Amino acid sequence: MDKKYYKKDCILLLKNKYIELQSQGLTRYPQRSDFESQDIVAIKAILGPWPRALEIAGIKPPRDEDRLQKNREKRIRAKRARTAARKALEKERKSIIKAAHDEGFRGATIIDTDKIVFDAAFRPYCEENLCGQYGANYSCPPDCGTPEEMKQRVLSYKKALVLSTEWEIEDFSQTDRIKDAKAQHNAAMLRLIEKLKSVGYDGFMVGASGCSMCKPCKLTIGEPCEHPDKKYSCMSAYCIYVKKLAEDCKINYDYKDNILPFFGMYVFD
Ligand code: SF4
Repeated sequence: MDKKYYKKDCILLLKNKYIELQSQGLTRYPQRSDFESQDIVAIKAILGPWPRALEIAGIKPPRDEDRLQKNREKRIRAKRARTAARKALEKERKSIIKAAHDEGFRGATIIDTDKIVFDAAFRPYCEENLCGQYGANYSCPPDCGTPEEMKQRVLSYKKALVLSTEWEIEDFSQTDRIKDAKAQHNAAMLRLIEKLKSVGYDGFMVGASGCSMCKPCKLTIGEPCEHPDKKYSCMSAYCIYVKKLAEDCKINYDYKDNILPFFGMYVFD
């Protein structure tokens, strides 16, 4: 017949075992392996988890409830702080994206800079000098820096706000229209960046084309850059694989139905 256990029986079992261990010169607490399986089941069922059972039997000093409670509260506070930080980050992203849309950008997505694909193989396209700025602008190659230097500059910041504008361009022979569209894109970026900087988002601009703040660039007349802190290089000068970036950001990249998108980024922390 199964033995019936009461609380006092369980406590006695533990206490007696403890006395027995001490009489053998052992200083440890009673362990599960010191008992029959039916004793173990009863002790755990009636007194709770083993350390708690030892406490109830007066063998093990009671836990420091204060410390446990403080640890519990600390864990809860840390969890709440993580949740609040996540929400703040999401809110921050939404407000930046909204500011970009308000400024007229069609595409606006924030990505981590370590997700951007760079390819130094794009640099020879700059060297072809189709834009006429190679060696004639501080923001363009070779004066802007090597592909690796440009890449490291981007990677020294954590985030990039990828921006696009879309323009009706009938064909690529409309060079003045394209030039004007890029200038408007860059001007909108400068306005947006001023707003972002005013609320603490420090960073730098990567334009749809190279810097055109001075006409011509001071490089052509052998003078130092007029705005070294504001000058901006284009996506090509950074050797950014823009098609892949657009795909990753889910922003339209293709020239279709006479609509041509231009891209830029604000790289920030
Ligand atoms: S700020 Fe002026 S000088 Fe400097 S890179 Fe731009 S156009 Fe050239």
